[in-house]
Amino acid sequence: MSPANSSSSNSNDAGANSPPESRPSNFIRDQVIKDLETGKYDGQVQTRFPPEPNGYLHIGHAKSICLNFGLADEFGGKTNLRFDDTNPEKEEQEYVDSIMKDVRWLGFQWDGLSYASDYFDRLYEWAIKLINDGKAYVDDLSAEEIRKYRGTLTEPGKDSPHRNRSKEENLDIFERMRKGEFPDGSRVLRAKIDMASPNLNMRDPVMYRILHAEHHRTGGNWCIYPMYDYAHGQSDSIERVTHSICTLEFEDHRPLYNWFIQQLGIFPSQQMEFDRLALTYTLLSKRKLLTLVQEKRVTGWDDPRMPTLSGIRRRGYTPEAIRNFCGAIGVSKTNGTLELAMLEHFVREDLNKRAPRVMAVLRPLKVVIDNYPEGQVDEVDAINNPEDESAGKRQVPFSKILYIEQDDFREDPPKQYYRLSPGREVRLRYGYFITARSVEKNDRGEVVEVHCTYDAATRGGNAPDGRKVKSTIHWVSAAHALDAEVRIYDTLFTKEDPNQVEEGQEFTANLNPISLEVIAQAKLEPSLANAPIEARYQFERLGYFCVDPDSRPGRLVFNRTVALKDTWAKVEKKIEKKSGS
Ligand code: ATP
Ligand code: MG
Repeated sequence: MSPANSSSSNSNDAGANSPPESRPSNFIRDQVIKDLETGKYDGQVQTRFPPEPNGYLHIGHAKSICLNFGLADEFGGKTNLRFDDTNPEKEEQEYVDSIMKDVRWLGFQWDGLSYASDYFDRLYEWAIKLINDGKAYVDDLSAEEIRKYRGTLTEPGKDSPHRNRSKEENLDIFERMRKGEFPDGSRVLRAKIDMASPNLNMRDPVMYRILHAEHHRTGGNWCIYPMYDYAHGQSDSIERVTHSICTLEFEDHRPLYNWFIQQLGIFPSQQMEFDRLALTYTLLSKRKLLTLVQEKRVTGWDDPRMPTLSGIRRRGYTPEAIRNFCGAIGVSKTNGTLELAMLEHFVREDLNKRAPRVMAVLRPLKVVIDNYPEGQVDEVDAINNPEDESAGKRQVPFSKILYIEQDDFREDPPKQYYRLSPGREVRLRYGYFITARSVEKNDRGEVVEVHCTYDAATRGGNAPDGRKVKSTIHWVSAAHALDAEVRIYDTLFTKEDPNQVEEGQEFTANLNPISLEVIAQAKLEPSLANAPIEARYQFERLGYFCVDPDSRPGRLVFNRTVALKDTWAKVEKKIEKKSGS
């Protein structure tokens, strides 16, 4: 789906109780409705979210989570969280814990909690049944040989010399594989399907491999482990999953998914595929994200530059924004790449509604108001959120010495620069009109202090004589300011497609060397003194920021979530123009 037409349909606009017609539909939802109408599954809807616990969840997983939980929620069904833990060497409890935390954070609660490893006994029994039925055999070929024998898209495969082993021999060797008699990689159990099938997945796929590895849940109980294709559909079937939704790369695996279920005569779960989420400047692959963590290219899985749910949570993204985004992008049958700016648009849109406004100066320049009484403090009223009247007002101290942004003063202003400059009058937000009179410089000739005068009659920001100023700038009272560190993030990669590399290069060659800028000496208004970790604010005129867990009393640390400028709105307009809508 193109971003242009997607932004008009937001499935979250319709609540869980609204009639189905009011929700934007898609081919998956349509199939669910059809199955409900025909009574295919006795009116049941059971979905599952099946992450492999080999890394932290990322924004791509959020799409799958929203789909699975969203469908069950809409049609009175249930969703299981099932850990697809069939690769013991890559899986860890830490990942299991983080996945549960992230799913809850997104706003979902699963019905059943399970692990593919819960079903290892049953899968083993079913493998024995397939051997007994002449539908599976032990192969002694090496992985390399199996690959060679498999053939190609244009050439049929060749039968393994072990394909016609007797049932008894297969049962005996498979039993001994399970007992641990053979080394890793020496044998596999394969399904006996069709070595000439046009679908390579059907050319006697491997069901079990030997792996003498500790499993994070079953410990040393097993030394043979089922392959994804053998474990996944059967786990779905055991859980009576009606709609098993997965990404498009599994489309060619569907015949195999169905084959196992048919051969075993078990609950007929059905697999449906949708497009994988991809975003510009972003990598969504746990393997690659793990590389970034291991090589310390980032501070961890929750580095605010990471596209992981823990990273974007720390960055300040809200679960609502992510759900709205996932609802708006919908699903399709072809993979594409969405603009990162589109995701940021949803973050801004949500934060605009909920984030209290405060004043913060990132790169302070001292302003002295010469005619303001020494020692006087005015508490001026400031609106907490113009989008939300119930958020009320607060008072911000105003005094003789203030900080403004260095950017908001020019000694020699270029044309169309309307902020503070010598002789120019501007409004200090919620404060007074001030006029710059003179500057003080350091030995390098840089302006370090601007002397101004103020008009006491303009308190609150308006002149009784109705005279206008062309700009309003933010400020913080120097005597009351809180010191803070502010971390400004840019994209982690410099290329729109970070996978695009020159020959011989790794994807890490595309890392952005300036994806993090640390501002050590920002000045914040005093109301932020007790801001809790993860609290989100709009720093007026600058963007949205949130409190980082590194914050300590007296030493606040903020992350910039997203800047104010909505590049997405521009992109969207351009796209609308192009498509003529
Ligand atoms: P990765 O390559 O990042 O490890 P994966 O597909 O192997 O991705 P799983 O843990 O197996 O990750 O995925 C759990 C579920 O999330 C699967 O149903 C998968 O299809 C879905 N999923 C993973 N990545 C995306 C994505 N980018 N967009 C949509 N769904 C995704
Ligand atoms: Mg995977």
